[in-house]
Amino acid sequence: MIRNSAAEMAAKLNAGEITSVELTQLHLDRIAAVDTDVHAFLFVNNEGALAQAAEVDVKRAAGEKMSPLAGVPLALKDVMTQKGVPTTCGSKILEGWRPPYDSTVVTNLKKNGIVILGKTNMDEFAMGSSTENSAYGPTHNPWDLSRIPGGSGGGSSAALAAFEAPLAIGTDTGGSIRQPAAVTGTVGVKPTYGGVSRFGLVAFSSSLDQAGPCARTVLDAALLHEAIAGHDPKDSTSINAPVPQVVAAAKSGDVKGMKIGVVKELNGEGYQNGVRIRFEESLELLAAAGAEIVEVSAPNFEYALAAYYLIAPSECSSNLARFDAMRYGLRVGDVDGASAESVMNLTREVGFGREVKRRIILGTYALSSGYYDAYYGSAQKVRTLITQDFNKAFEKCDVMVSPTCPTTAFKIGEKSNDPIAMYLNDIATIPVNMAGIGGMSLPAGLAPEDGLPVGFQIMAPAMQDDRMYLVGAALEAALLSKWGAPLLSKIPALAGA
Ligand code: GLN
Repeated sequence: MIRNSAAEMAAKLNAGEITSVELTQLHLDRIAAVDTDVHAFLFVNNEGALAQAAEVDVKRAAGEKMSPLAGVPLALKDVMTQKGVPTTCGSKILEGWRPPYDSTVVTNLKKNGIVILGKTNMDEFAMGSSTENSAYGPTHNPWDLSRIPGGSGGGSSAALAAFEAPLAIGTDTGGSIRQPAAVTGTVGVKPTYGGVSRFGLVAFSSSLDQAGPCARTVLDAALLHEAIAGHDPKDSTSINAPVPQVVAAAKSGDVKGMKIGVVKELNGEGYQNGVRIRFEESLELLAAAGAEIVEVSAPNFEYALAAYYLIAPSECSSNLARFDAMRYGLRVGDVDGASAESVMNLTREVGFGREVKRRIILGTYALSSGYYDAYYGSAQKVRTLITQDFNKAFEKCDVMVSPTCPTTAFKIGEKSNDPIAMYLNDIATIPVNMAGIGGMSLPAGLAPEDGLPVGFQIMAPAMQDDRMYLVGAALEAALLSKWGAPLLSKIPALAGA
């Protein structure tokens, strides 16, 4: 049962073959069996999840009309507030904080009867690509426990791959949904910026942050996408327009006549051989399904990483100023006679980890008078050039594609002392955030040299998110008939399970 897709679980719930309480308990048992090894969760909400499930069961038994995913369990990234449930963002500075309100994503999940199992591990304040920057210890990739599950949302992707949850929520500022999906053989979607409300998403870089669905199939991601998306007056950047028809697209998967643009700059040197092999194979399958493959160029993508590492730290230095020891979580050095300033300094010194401090310092510098135009101002101009590259390329194609990441999952510890090597993981995902458009990663198979999952990235113009699901569903179907079984059926069994 726990290896089913969310859509299959929903069908079984509807047919009365299982109750939501039973389904939730199966997942809680699985978490208890494997999470000591995987460490996907920071908090497991046994009681809360079972209570929510029981409520759904009562409604279903009373004959109420249920939404498509009602009763199906989900893992929530710990950067999203859920009323009364610990929310740490992977940081010591928020230890003990229980938010007094639900994020809009959580409100929507609850409205749809989706059962929240608990909060998943992440790089501190979503800064990282490996989940090693969590103050609570790393998450392990279920394909190989000595490897990273991606980041920052490694807890969510690992929970899916370890069959601890069929659905998860992630957030993506520079790749934190797509890169973890790629290295764990799961599906992750960053919707168009403004497509899903940011209310209650603890801010890292407000002009880039976007929440989105994580799942094991394209259809499951689409179902979750529709459940969480839509206009929200509580988020001034939320788009007031109908949600793209992503479920219909995922069900259709018809790519005949579609033009798929391969980004020349994201498919060459620096990409692992096995990643390129799987990417080329996926292109052939899409062509066989009736799509036309064209090449497009985006010359300014080369500067995306550098510009991102000015914009994201700048916004983070401002956003993280709110952790002042007065309002949330941790407070250190609050002794008689201590000044507010010394308490604030001590708390931030103890409460923030190394990477977060590095970003705050970088961002403060980039925003300082005399440097603002040279750094932040130039980065914003690069951002415009990247958007123009996308616009030009989309004149020639309906979607753009690339490998999601240059390599498969690396070893825990391998890049933790080399920030630039870590940052380079996001070379292919960051342009999407800079332009505010949508991006999806889905599994393209295993790299022959190491047997680890490879991700295929699909990028679509703003508010055309349905196109990613169309192409994703087509590729998923073609790969499934080639493999004969879903990729995750090949995952090694976990000890203790
Ligand atoms: N890895 C990138 C970073 O460290 C992106 C993180 C994210 O998308 N939240 O900033």
